Amino acid sequence: MSDADTPKPRLEDISPDDMPPDDEYLPMDELLHLRAILRERAAELLENGRQSISDLTEQKELDADAVDQAANESDRGFSLRLADRDRLMLRKIGKALERVDDGEYGMCESCGAPITYRRLLARPVATLCIDCKTTAEQQERRRWDF
Ligand SMILES: [Zn+2]
Repeated sequence: MSDADTPKPRLEDISPDDMPPDDEYLPMDELLHLRAILRERAAELLENGRQSISDLTEQKELDADAVDQAANESDRGFSLRLADRDRLMLRKIGKALERVDDGEYGMCESCGAPITYRRLLARPVATLCIDCKTTAEQQERRRWDF
């Protein structure tokens, strides 16, 4: 008896079932497309941010008149609220881009299932699959019912 009687498994013996199915994770072209959308969105937000900063500077120069100042206060409040929301979105985009780099993008953070390409196109910063998102929203609603 020799080692030849216990042959090592050859590549062609490995069942295709052992390989992950193609639809388990985003194909590279879809992933790159979504990453491009995320980067574009981030660039837009940064551009918006620059604009509100220059708006604020302009308002400060107009503050001399007391009446204008009152009007500017509300404008400024609006600009700042906008910036807060944009900052939050920027942070989400940053995290999404991090997940792209880590190869975790498009996976549900709750159950690990792949998030559909269609859902990611509509909401590129999504971190939950539609099932987990629905469950989370139902729990949220129940909390507010009390
Ligand atoms: Zn999920």
